[in-house]
Amino acid sequence: MRTIEIFDTTLRDGEQSPGVNLSMNEKVEIALQLERLGVSRMEAGFAAASPGDLRSVAEVAKRVKNATVVSLARSVSGDIDKAYEALRDAQNPCIHVFLATSPIHREHKLNMSKEQVIERAVAAIKHAKKYVSNVQFSAEDAGRTELPYLAEVVRAAIAAGANVINLPDTVGYLTPQEYGNIFREMIIRVPETASIKLSCHCHDDLGMAVANSLAAIEAGVTQVEGTINGIGERAGNTSLEEVVMALETRKSFYQVETKWQLKEIARTSQLVSRLTGMIVPGNKAIVGANAYAHESGIHQDGVLKNSETYEIIRPETVGYKSNLLVLGKHSGRHAFKDKLAELGYHLETEQIDTAFQAFKVLCDKKKEVSDDDILALIDAKMADSEEMYQLDSIQLSYGNQSTPTASVRIIRADGETYEEAACGNGSVDSIYKAIDRAIGEDVTLIDYKIISVTHGKDALGEVYVRLQQGDEISQGRGLSTDVMEASAIAYVRAINKLIRARGEVLDAQPV
Ligand SMILES: [Zn+2]
Repeated sequence: MRTIEIFDTTLRDGEQSPGVNLSMNEKVEIALQLERLGVSRMEAGFAAASPGDLRSVAEVAKRVKNATVVSLARSVSGDIDKAYEALRDAQNPCIHVFLATSPIHREHKLNMSKEQVIERAVAAIKHAKKYVSNVQFSAEDAGRTELPYLAEVVRAAIAAGANVINLPDTVGYLTPQEYGNIFREMIIRVPETASIKLSCHCHDDLGMAVANSLAAIEAGVTQVEGTINGIGERAGNTSLEEVVMALETRKSFYQVETKWQLKEIARTSQLVSRLTGMIVPGNKAIVGANAYAHESGIHQDGVLKNSETYEIIRPETVGYKSNLLVLGKHSGRHAFKDKLAELGYHLETEQIDTAFQAFKVLCDKKKEVSDDDILALIDAKMADSEEMYQLDSIQLSYGNQSTPTASVRIIRADGETYEEAACGNGSVDSIYKAIDRAIGEDVTLIDYKIISVTHGKDALGEVYVRLQQGDEISQGRGLSTDVMEASAIAYVRAINKLIRARGEVLDAQPV
């Protein structure tokens, strides 16, 4: 059976989703989970985009051991130099250069002739080859490129040393038949493709990204690119968990295998959803909350008699399990540490100590602590370590007949504290006005939502906010058994991300 390599670009193409802005720690956390999931390659970012991006790629490259770490680069030497700088510590580095090949991009974006495009691509691949043996070339908008010309590009790129050729449907325009056909044609027209890996990369503008990727696999590609939960620009990328589960569930049809640890799918999906703030719709295939829920009486009856009547995938296969309540007030540090390991976290002693303290605080507020609670708590703790501002305390006076008033104390990374109070139209409004005064950033709240992470009256509440400042949009999440506190934390984090997006935190590290 052919093995299909899974190339994850959650941290690069996925992070290009509007409003998503992951910190370095968050990227590392996702990267380590992707490694446990078994992705063969992960694109950690676009090193030349900013010093912050470079640093994140470098940190992922340092921490990930089993997967190839990839940095994107335009076909210019400066970008390729930066990509290599970021990948220097990687066990298996790969530089991914791209250049658009379609007539519309050549004429209107690049203003280059067919020959010039090939020349530049070849020069870029050769430059990248000086640094690493593993070079991927993507013909951007390959989907709308003339086939004979695309074949010329592919031949030249292979001759220049590219070992993976990716032919993306950048704008999500093609049908499965058309997309599969491009690869069939390339395999016939360019016999050299037999010695390299052919890769597909789709976008979901017409809802066909997964179908197109599966068509490409049928046509002979050996690498599929995509993201967890299908996140990404516009309508998003190929949803990797859907592709993998289609290949696994219909193995007899596709006759291929993947190296994924299927039981890690649920946890990876939840982690990406939490850290990006992009909530998975309930009806999403494979990872939606309702994906395994049977509502109709006839279906329920059938499933009880034999689950195969209406279930093609057991939820346990992809890592959903009934939420066992195991830890509580009396659990010790050792049990807690074991639990973390069972949940897939391998933390430094110092990080365990911090997490354990937070766990104890949570036990005071909540009788039973579930796996979900612990996962949420670890995520929240890890997000804090590189923040410019942190919420220290909050005081709220509320009555339905009086004007809500909030006072907050905020600590800056250098130890400076700021205290302010404000009145507002509601509790959340008063908290946000007080934070605005304390931090002094001019931001607009454009979205606010609360979800409960776990069940029961003492459930943890998770708040997501989206802020705008000029053209920049950021999102933040906060977690607490108290939704007002969660609201404040989410707001402060979103402000931190706006500051980080301006490059202030990373380049002017407070002492
Ligand atoms: Zn893309």
